[in-house]
Amino acid sequence: MKITFVGTSHGVPAKDRYCSCYMIESGGKIYMVDAGAPAAEMILRYGGDVNDFRALFTTHVHSDHTAGMVHLISLMNWYYKQSSGDFFITEQNHIDATLRWLETSGSGAFDKERLRMHVPTEGVVYEDENIKAEYIPTKHMPNAYSILLTEGEKRVLFGGDFSPWLAKDDVPKVTEEEIDLFVCEMAHFTAEQISPYLEKCRAKRLAFTHVYPLDKYNDIEAMKGKYCFDIFTPNDGDVMEI
Ligand SMILES: [Zn+2]
Ligand SMILES: [Zn+2]
Repeated sequence: MKITFVGTSHGVPAKDRYCSCYMIESGGKIYMVDAGAPAAEMILRYGGDVNDFRALFTTHVHSDHTAGMVHLISLMNWYYKQSSGDFFITEQNHIDATLRWLETSGSGAFDKERLRMHVPTEGVVYEDENIKAEYIPTKHMPNAYSILLTEGEKRVLFGGDFSPWLAKDDVPKVTEEEIDLFVCEMAHFTAEQISPYLEKCRAKRLAFTHVYPLDKYNDIEAMKGKYCFDIFTPNDGDVMEI
């Protein structure tokens, strides 16, 4: 599985970072986790074809994780007529609002057979010949999740956002199982507060994204070498083969 770190900023974009968005390629198909960046443009920028798109998995409905999906859905509806996809959006209200947006923008009747909207619940929500996606609740807000993507033996955990200061003890316990990559936010807590979780974490690699305030990049530098896995801070456009 090839992962492109499309958007690595926290809740606010920076001049060189979009908000949360990851593109995953597997078996010649394209999947995305979160769409805080303009998803259609990003698929094209990184050499993909919108017709190969299969599914978008959002962790929660905050705009820095969802605002870039509307144009993708719209383009798939009226322009990329050969495309089809599954969109996992964690609130029915947000799906309704998206469909209202499309309706009032006049991009034609919405093809709900090709473009399927789902409200995910805890557990495996999607599986095809390439990947499997499992939703794991976090306590960041109502209906917020981490997402575990599995491709054969390979497992990547996209943490989504966690509760402020990790007060609700909500880093998924799946981090106690072996995973190839853990993509972890770093905006709602300190390096010290995440430390007890990382001590138990059996990831092979850990990517910190969604970093705020920016001086936490220094704290992350200081964490390197403390745990039994590599820690890195990807920039937009970085690619990793798992
Ligand atoms: Zn966020
Ligand atoms: Zn959030």
